[in-house]
Amino acid sequence: MSIPFSPTERPLLHIERASDLMSIVTRWKAQDLRVGFVPTMGALHDGHLSLVQRARAQSDRVIVSIFVNPAQFAPHEDFDSYPRLIDKDLKMLQAEGVDLAYTPLAAEIYPNGPTITTKVGAAAAGLESDFRPHFFDGVTTVVHTLFQQTQPDIAVFGEKDFQQLMVIREMVARENMPIEIIGAPIMRDENGLALSSRNAYLSAEERGQADMLNQIIYNAAYRIAEMTDPATLDTILEDARQAITICGFDKVDYVSLRWNRVLAAAWLGKTRLIDNCAVINNPQ
Ligand code: AMP
Repeated sequence: MSIPFSPTERPLLHIERASDLMSIVTRWKAQDLRVGFVPTMGALHDGHLSLVQRARAQSDRVIVSIFVNPAQFAPHEDFDSYPRLIDKDLKMLQAEGVDLAYTPLAAEIYPNGPTITTKVGAAAAGLESDFRPHFFDGVTTVVHTLFQQTQPDIAVFGEKDFQQLMVIREMVARENMPIEIIGAPIMRDENGLALSSRNAYLSAEERGQADMLNQIIYNAAYRIAEMTDPATLDTILEDARQAITICGFDKVDYVSLRWNRVLAAAWLGKTRLIDNCAVINNPQ
């Protein structure tokens, strides 16, 4: 099936079966076309589209997958309620000049049910894994399978999920996959809130509170860049945790420094938000 398109553009191919996908990709490869890939869980926003633009700039054909991956949700998490807006998503991908939308049926990814087939490495330790122990095994499993099916030359991931980006880089290196992993910057709304499909869960009041998260981690990153005594680090991170709570968040999972970034995860009601920012040291 393909979506209506203007005569000057290629149509967006919409594929649900891995075998169909693989025969198209094989044809592209035979024509020496460079394939770019952006995996997503749909409910697309400008953050996703920025990854698509990055992929387009560096490849001849762009594949976007939309798959809400059961293996990365724990039973108590939001798999059932995760927003699914496939028609709107396909229109956005068509408008963005994407060549192929891959929306696999679960059986195409997990012929034997959602089992973990690709394990994580050291980058997965701590942070998200302390609170979502199942998560990265589910991510590496689905991304590994999607990489095998799409055979991309490059794949673009958002720095929004910074630990995930590190986990994927590690997996690709370990498995010797011939894929260049590109990290793309975080897209934010006018108040600095990192765009996320889960922002749709926020009430109007929570949205106002959510805006504070990025300001607090930027402030912490600034203080870390300026600090002269490394012993102050714990105080700075603890100040940030307290500030997040004071702003109305119900629970702070973590505020930590790793990869020269301040990374945070916190809950507003039923919504879990994550964000991070770089520590930029003054060159003097
Ligand atoms: P998701 O659909 O949430 O699994 O995200 C798919 C990809 O989009 C991941 O590589 C995310 O890191 C990336 N992404 C999500 N939100 C943003 C954002 N605000 N800015 C940049 N990339 C993002």
